[in-house]
Amino acid sequence: MRRLQERFRRFMNHPAPANSRYKPTCYEHAANCYTHAFLIVPAIVGSALLHRLSDDRWEKITAWIYGMGLCALFIVSTVFHIVSWKKSHLRTMEHCFHMCDRMMIYVFIAASYAPWLNLRELGPLASHMRWFIWLMAAGGTVYVFLYHEKYKIVELFFYLAMGFSPALVVTSMSNTEGLEEVAWGGLIYCLGVVFFKSDGVIPFAHAIWHVFVATAAAVHYYAIWKYLYRSPADIIRHL
Ligand SMILES: [Zn+2]
Repeated sequence: MRRLQERFRRFMNHPAPANSRYKPTCYEHAANCYTHAFLIVPAIVGSALLHRLSDDRWEKITAWIYGMGLCALFIVSTVFHIVSWKKSHLRTMEHCFHMCDRMMIYVFIAASYAPWLNLRELGPLASHMRWFIWLMAAGGTVYVFLYHEKYKIVELFFYLAMGFSPALVVTSMSNTEGLEEVAWGGLIYCLGVVFFKSDGVIPFAHAIWHVFVATAAAVHYYAIWKYLYRSPADIIRHL
């Protein structure tokens, strides 16, 4: 038991060496950039559409929050991968953008849940998740700032814990329309984690992870658009 505790202590205190990160090939760098860069414009257009479809102020604010998270994810990711590809000699700059990229994951999880938590009826206890998810995002951001790349397993655990905990609240809603799509999106993210953790093992693993993220984000966007904002019939009526 004592030996196990000692091993755990050593594991927790052992920081990852600065050069331990996998260095992608030129083609992998390009794939990492393009797989998210091509989604910036659709994310902006999609966010603007939700804003336009909003019926009241609360829906508008939520469309802003979700839209900002969606656009920022693809923008920050693209900028980080460009810097990592073209400016990798500027180590501090690359490090900062890498931290921002990882912080964005926490913010993006909170933003993705925001429309469901804000616009659906929740019970008195469950409604606390509306602000608690942002507290978790803030905690994750501070964690990245303090321990970036040090304890990768802990980081992964935090991502998954934050991704799953609001789902418990979401499933307790009286109106469950669209939750199947939310679950499908979540499953796609989870499958993508296999590639997220396979840098240097599977060629183009990180770009494949990006494709999983884009697909899951598209499924979630579709569900938000269809079930929380207006239906296609309403759009045609308003044209
Ligand atoms: Zn990436």
